[in-house]
Amino acid sequence: MHYLSMLLVISAGLYTLWDSLRRGRSFLSAVFWGLGVTLLFIIFFPLHLLTRPKMKTNSGFRQGYEQQRYQQNNPIDITDEISLACPNCGNFYSGNPSHCPHCGTSLKAD
Ligand SMILES: [Zn+2]
Repeated sequence: MHYLSMLLVISAGLYTLWDSLRRGRSFLSAVFWGLGVTLLFIIFFPLHLLTRPKMKTNSGFRQGYEQQRYQQNNPIDITDEISLACPNCGNFYSGNPSHCPHCGTSLKAD
C-alpha cells in the first residue's frame, strides 16, 4: 500500500513537471515543482494548481478571437490601402482621387 501511494505521488510529480513545462515555466522551476510535489504532495500540488501559468495555446487562441471580433466591430476603410495603376501613365495612386496625381487624367468613369 505504501509502495502504491509512492507511485501515485511520483506520477503526480512527473505530471506537475510536464504541466509546468508545457505552460511555459523554465526547466529548473518545472523540476523544482515536480520535486516539491513528489516530496510534499499535500503542500505543493494544490500550490501548483493555484500558481501555474495559463496555457499558452489557450491565450493565443483567445487573442486571435478577440482581434477578429475587434475587426468585425470596427470595419476599416481600405480604400486608402489599395494602390491602383493609372490607365494613362501607369503610375500607382492610392485612395479614390478624381484625377491621377501624376498626369491629371480623369479617373472617374462619369
Ligand atoms: Zn496618370
